[in-house]
Order: sequence, then C-alpha cells, then structure tokens
Amino acid sequence: MRSLLLLLFSCTVMTQAQMNVDDLTGLAANPANKLEQLTQLALDKITAAAAKEGIKIQLVSGYRSFARQRSIWNRKYKRYQSQGLEPDAIFDKIVEYSTVPGTSRHHWGTDVDLIDGNATYSGDVLVPDKFHGDGPFCEFKDWMEAHASDYGFELVYTNAGNRSGFKYEPWHYSYAPVSKDYLEIYNEKMEFVTFLRSQDIMGMNDISDDRLLRYFKEHINGVNPSLKTTTTKRKE
Ligand SMILES: [Zn+2]
Repeated sequence: MRSLLLLLFSCTVMTQAQMNVDDLTGLAANPANKLEQLTQLALDKITAAAAKEGIKIQLVSGYRSFARQRSIWNRKYKRYQSQGLEPDAIFDKIVEYSTVPGTSRHHWGTDVDLIDGNATYSGDVLVPDKFHGDGPFCEFKDWMEAHASDYGFELVYTNAGNRSGFKYEPWHYSYAPVSKDYLEIYNEKMEFVTFLRSQDIMGMNDISDDRLLRYFKEHINGVNPSLKTTTTKRKE
C-alpha cells in the first residue's frame, strides 16, 4: 500500500524538469485555487492533530493566482501614483506588504496564511499583535511553534533581525519539503526582469533594473533558512 501511494505521488507531483515559468508564477490554470497536493495532505494532517488538542487551524489564504496578485498590485500602484510618487518609490511602498505579481509564494500552492478558527477577534486579521502578548491567536501560535515543523511547516517571514525583505508574518507558513525545491527552481529558471517586463503589470517599464534585482535578492530570498536547500544557501 505504501509503495503504491508513493508511486501515485511520484506521478502527480511535478519534478524540477517539468516545472515551467507558469507553474512558478501563478499563471498556470488552477480554477479551483487548489493547494499543491502534498501541501494539502500535510495541512489536513496538522489540522487533525491540532483539533485533538483543541486548536482549530483555519486557512485564511492559500493558493493565489497571478491575476489576483496583479489586481492588488495595480490598485496600489494607481493610488501611490496619484499621490505623485516616483516609480521606484512606489515599488518600495508596495513591497512593504504586498508581493510583485509572479513573485508570491502563494502562487506555488505551498504556502498558507493560518489563524485560530476558535478565537474571537475584531478588526484586521493578519496583524502580528494578534499572535503575541495576550492576542487572540496566541494559543494557536504557541501550538504551531511547538509542532509545525513535525508536519513540515515552517514560518517564512520570521522576526529574526538579520532577515531581509518582507516584514514579520507570524501567520504565513510554508510546506518546506516541496517549497524548498520550488525556491531553488525559481532561482534557477526565472529570467526575473525580463519576465516582469513581459507581463501587463503597472510600472514595470519604469522601475529600474537595480530595484527589481534587489527585490529578487532581499525579498524572494529573504526567507527562513529552513526553507532553503543547500544549493540555494551556497549561492548566497
Ligand atoms: Zn501569506
């Protein structure tokens, strides 16, 4: 039975050679917004384990398409442009909290934003304060800190002082056994600047190469070291 299952998975999970730019950038068709298969299985497992201890893991955001990320980007771009900001400055502003379309880890289906479905709260959901001190998601956060790694999940944007890129996100977990490889493939295969300029994304022809390449280094690779393969680590 076990070998049959392994065989099934090895047929359905994409290998490095099979993955193309569309798979890495949210452009591949995924109308049901499904998570990557092994990620979904692992999420089911950790959700069941947490439930036994009274924690209700709730998915707030999983797979996100390129089109969805682009609509977020373009809306913000227009807003900052109307305030008179220059393209590179607009870029700086948006990437404080949002990813450039085609560069979100949510495009991979391996990353999830999670909260405690049993907690009562008001206002914005994904804010760090809610996961610390006496915040509503503290019990969930403590449980995840103790158990997430056992199920393959790692926090991506940790609060480690030496990490570059996106701000601390105590809700954003990644399924490391798959996403580690995806990051490596992303680093290998993406013609980053060319790709972004070939898409219909606001500002992409006005933002400098330097700014885009710095984002690639600091943001896309500014993640928890547990989510990097030895190859990715060596390149830095
Ligand atoms: Zn997220």
